[in-house]
Amino acid sequence: MTQTTDVRPEPVAPVLVDNATVSAPLAPVVNPALTSETVGWTAMGTEADADLAVRTANRAFPGWSNLTASQRAAYLLNAAAALDPHGEERARLLVREQGKVLWEARMETHRVGDMLRYYASLADDVAAEQVSSDARGSVIVRRRPMGVVAIIVPWNAPVYLAFLAVAPALMAGNTIVVKPSELAPLTLTEILSTLAKVLPAGVVNVVPGDGAVVGATFSAHPLVRKVLFTGSTKTGQAVMRAAAGTLKNIGLELGGNDPAIVLESASITDQLINELIKGVYTGTGQICFNVKRIYVHESHYREFLDRFTAAADEIVVGPGLDPAATMGPLNNEPQFRRVEELLARAHSAGAHVATLGRKLDPATWDAGYFMLPSVVSDLPDDAELVQCEQFGPTVPVLTFRDEEEALARANDTEFGLAASLWSDDVDHAFELARRVEAGTVFVNVHRLGASDITMPFGGVKRSGIGRNHGLVAIEGCTEMQVLAHRVDHDKLPGPQVYGQ
Ligand code: NAD
Repeated sequence: MTQTTDVRPEPVAPVLVDNATVSAPLAPVVNPALTSETVGWTAMGTEADADLAVRTANRAFPGWSNLTASQRAAYLLNAAAALDPHGEERARLLVREQGKVLWEARMETHRVGDMLRYYASLADDVAAEQVSSDARGSVIVRRRPMGVVAIIVPWNAPVYLAFLAVAPALMAGNTIVVKPSELAPLTLTEILSTLAKVLPAGVVNVVPGDGAVVGATFSAHPLVRKVLFTGSTKTGQAVMRAAAGTLKNIGLELGGNDPAIVLESASITDQLINELIKGVYTGTGQICFNVKRIYVHESHYREFLDRFTAAADEIVVGPGLDPAATMGPLNNEPQFRRVEELLARAHSAGAHVATLGRKLDPATWDAGYFMLPSVVSDLPDDAELVQCEQFGPTVPVLTFRDEEEALARANDTEFGLAASLWSDDVDHAFELARRVEAGTVFVNVHRLGASDITMPFGGVKRSGIGRNHGLVAIEGCTEMQVLAHRVDHDKLPGPQVYGQ
């Protein structure tokens, strides 16, 4: 840390509380495609900053929650209009801090406005109350916002994943404190500061910094009513432990080890191959619900492996801003080393590791966290690469004999985020899909964009708790409240006392 926010080198992700910048020490954010380049600076917020943000959000809560849902929707629509013109410049900043290629970054920054508009369109559902009355009296069942919601964000799709929580939390009437990842905080903080300026002061607060400091403070803070966390299973467990002290509501979107099962009834078409290539390598393999294991029926195994390998060989790896690059670098050094070590251990355990694709610029290859795509075959089910979430541009391809065996092996994991079945017989695939232990089971698709914002999304087992997307995400940051007026006192149970 060499500077503080007061020096304000640009761009910078500051601590933002009550629409004002709070001075904090800064740390550099490096370009994963050129690690000698500092893209910008992130504030390293303190426990005191996190506390101030929570207290500020708590103060802003009565004003925001007392607006009607339509009034809040109008604010979100104004924010969407303010964000729309900046999608492209922010996509380019996201590439430079995160590493992804430009179209992947656009899928985040160009969609923020639409996400706000989608949640604004649910205003009537937010306001809806179920009213019933009969001889017993009248009852209203409604939902009320919780208070301060803390949103903790990972580095892999920082803008999109943040807004999957930000938009429904705000629409429901909560105020928010957001903790961007220290590895990709710039674009998200810029977008949140535009949002904060359009909304009443104190509704949106941002504290970038170390997860163990800012994230942990949010997770334990008595005034935070809900934590919406997206990240690794291990950190999710830490959040759950910290939240237990104040019995906070939590939503956890965690890791996955998603299986794709290519059934005997599938035709190995170009489309199937291309879809699975996208499912594995989009985001350089760093998408929570990317395909992480492929099981192929033995009748197709050889053809599939040859064609999939040939398609992966077309991938061109380079800086995300270069239009010739189809895959960017990994985001950070620990992730890069982890994937490298996984591949080395698979190789020394006797697996066949096919290293594929092309280096866009061999001369600058070592300047970033670039890795060629690979396909790993001849691995046993208990191999580390089959069991863990690799989060990188590689995939084990395994073979199976019958569907029961494939289902059992696919389900033999502590994860359960998504899965996919590939078949020409869609009805049969849907039947089998019911038996897969995952929050989402796709048929003939399994890639970024396939889980529309209207489709509830989340994991089972150690992949998470709760659901994102759709109205269910709004319900997730509200509490059900019952208002009851009874007139049938003579029918209520209890002893006859006080002369009645
Ligand atoms: P991570 O768990 O390391 O970090 C996530 C966030 O938590 C960061 O902002 C980090 O600073 C913060 N943090 C760290 N320690 C904390 C603590 N003790 N208390 C509170 N917050 C803390 O995850 P990551 O490496 O940024 O992201 C990769 C992981 O995220 C992968 O496992 C991936 O599968 C998962 N992920 C899941 C989804 C989903 O929707 N299910 C989406 C994207 C990523």
